Amino acid sequence: MANNIQAIRGMHDVLPEQTPLWQYAEQGIRDVLSAYGYSEIRLPIVEKTELFKRSIGEVTDIVEKEMYTFDDRNGDSLTLRPEGTAGCLRACLEHGLLHNQVHRLWYYGPMYRHERPQKGRYRQFFQLGVETYGMAGPDIDAELILIMDRLWKKLGIRDKVRLQLNSLGTLAERHVYRESLVSYFEGRLEQLDEDSLRRLKTNPLRILDTKNPAMIDVVANAPVLTDFLGEDSLQHFNAITAILEDLGIGYELNSRLVRGLDYYSKTVFEWVTDELGSQGTVCAGGRYDGLIEQLGGKPNHAVGFAMGMERLLALMETQDQVQLASPVDVYMIRVGETAEQQGLRFAETIRNEIPGLKLQMNCGGGSFKSQFKKADKSGADYALILGDDEVGRGEVSVKPLRDNQQQQQNMSWTQAIKFLVGRVSLA
Ligand code: ATP
Ligand code: MG
Repeated sequence: MANNIQAIRGMHDVLPEQTPLWQYAEQGIRDVLSAYGYSEIRLPIVEKTELFKRSIGEVTDIVEKEMYTFDDRNGDSLTLRPEGTAGCLRACLEHGLLHNQVHRLWYYGPMYRHERPQKGRYRQFFQLGVETYGMAGPDIDAELILIMDRLWKKLGIRDKVRLQLNSLGTLAERHVYRESLVSYFEGRLEQLDEDSLRRLKTNPLRILDTKNPAMIDVVANAPVLTDFLGEDSLQHFNAITAILEDLGIGYELNSRLVRGLDYYSKTVFEWVTDELGSQGTVCAGGRYDGLIEQLGGKPNHAVGFAMGMERLLALMETQDQVQLASPVDVYMIRVGETAEQQGLRFAETIRNEIPGLKLQMNCGGGSFKSQFKKADKSGADYALILGDDEVGRGEVSVKPLRDNQQQQQNMSWTQAIKFLVGRVSLA
């Protein structure tokens, strides 16, 4: 016999018992984004490999070793999207959305990276991406932070995340900084690990991002990017922190937050948590004006962020305040041929009369006893029971399944509908 086929390592099923939490978070996200006037954009999961090479850059972890790249039947090189920023910008350029226009967009869906799977790090994971175009800031930069602050509050995890903020300045300012950083590290080669020695040649700012405890000192004493910022970059940054202070949103300055991509400019930020071990970044973003030109567009402005859903949900699971709705409010039990037939009709009437009610029908017959067991397991608050007796009297028996104080009652169908309207929480 063949072995059962299993899912791909690092790619997970979301089982029915887990989906209510996902849906709760997704609904919260949609509500918050709509409160700020953002529109959804839906994008392909596969793009030309070239798009990611050109936008993310050849010397990044993603392009060097994490992409799922394959040739399609025509021999074109395609890649499962490792992130959404590139595809979103590609779509907006392709459809001419960036010409003299302002956009506030979001997308949601799976991303693919061939990383070593561990807690909070998977090969398929879900991201919410938010991208805005055409606004120079700093108010829009701050708005993105406000959106996330509101979402954390809505989902009850505000006290579990902290905002870290930095400015990367302009490309020119970063070049000067980069030189100073390289000469600092070159004077201390013996303190660098293998990874950092490699990055020193390719992407030295990324060394600041090291998670190696042995390198904490050498990184802590390195030159600081903030000291290299020009007037304009400083003003932009100070304006953001002023808005945050005015609205009472706490932040930490983290001069080692670099995000490692060349297209970032000025603002970068991360929302981090201490509750998820080393996979502590839940949401990351910043300003990336430069990417638009890099992908062939006219000079323009862009700022956005991406949030990892699995990390968000892991955080939500550390608190137990969320009351998730059961998938079933009412379970209908039918015994006997006439009851089965009438029950179907009654159930349709109930669904017409009480929009939002979740009524699950017992299918496949069975004794009262076995149907009651299923009713209990369904999570419903009430069972509606139709047997020959009830059918003969034109009634239905309503049995509370959770509240022992309530009596089982016989009533007419019309009465039963009235009874249910007041008693179930309609989503
Ligand atoms: P990390 O430093 O954790 O590798 P990153 O800089 O690669 O993160 P981004 O590309 O900025 O991550 O993606 C934004 C968010 O998406 C991350 O903050 C995280 O919440 C989530 N994320 C990134 N990679 C993964 C992954 N492999 N599995 C689960 N979530 C991920
Ligand atoms: Mg990564």
